[in-house]
Amino acid sequence: ACSSGAEDDSTLTVCTNVPFEPFEFSEDGEYAGFDIDLMNLLAERLDQSVEVVEISFDSISSGEALNAGTCDIAAAGLSITEERQAAMGMSQAYYRADQALVVPAGSDVATLDDLDGLQVAVQSGSTGEAYANDNAEQYGYEVVAFESMGDIASALTAGSVQASIADLATWNEMIETATDLALVQTIETAEHYGFAVQKDDTELLDEVNAMLDEIFADGTYAELYEQWIGE
Ligand code: GLN
Repeated sequence: ACSSGAEDDSTLTVCTNVPFEPFEFSEDGEYAGFDIDLMNLLAERLDQSVEVVEISFDSISSGEALNAGTCDIAAAGLSITEERQAAMGMSQAYYRADQALVVPAGSDVATLDDLDGLQVAVQSGSTGEAYANDNAEQYGYEVVAFESMGDIASALTAGSVQASIADLATWNEMIETATDLALVQTIETAEHYGFAVQKDDTELLDEVNAMLDEIFADGTYAELYEQWIGE
């Protein structure tokens, strides 16, 4: 799926990693979600069509994929951090996020305090991984990194790890279908998602910020938020 679309004027190539409901997921070969809708609005504004490039989250969050020209923009529930702002061009915030602790249903683990000696799954290159690493010594758990949220859910179900720390909204959505998992603690990290472009692409950065300004003002953002995230 890694085409040379980044050089093609009629195509907006979008790097993402699925599953990450409700922001991006694929169904019957089609990509959908809050981020995907926002990218469709950006493409409309630029008179382009969206081409999704599925790639590891790690290569997105490090800036590697964008700066290698793999895609024009990353839409991946990507939290804005100083490190990422230095590696890429990051848009204004469009979603406020937190982390959550998830365990197999019926587990004795209720909070971070119960993780001593256990293995905690995180997504490679994520802010959840950074949080888990920063607090591993205090709580006495071991951090195990996985490529995708799907792999984490499978590992929890199989019992090869006993807990996971990852983004709250995505876990909330995933546990609706993965009923063998339970969300036991919200961890307030006050993150904000942004879209990322290649480091020097101020033109596209201006466009994505202008698109966000427009949809914040005209009610489109609120409508999409309600549709995908609710409340
Ligand atoms: N918001 C988190 C981050 O930016 C996780 C995003 C993801 O896993 N897609 O690291």
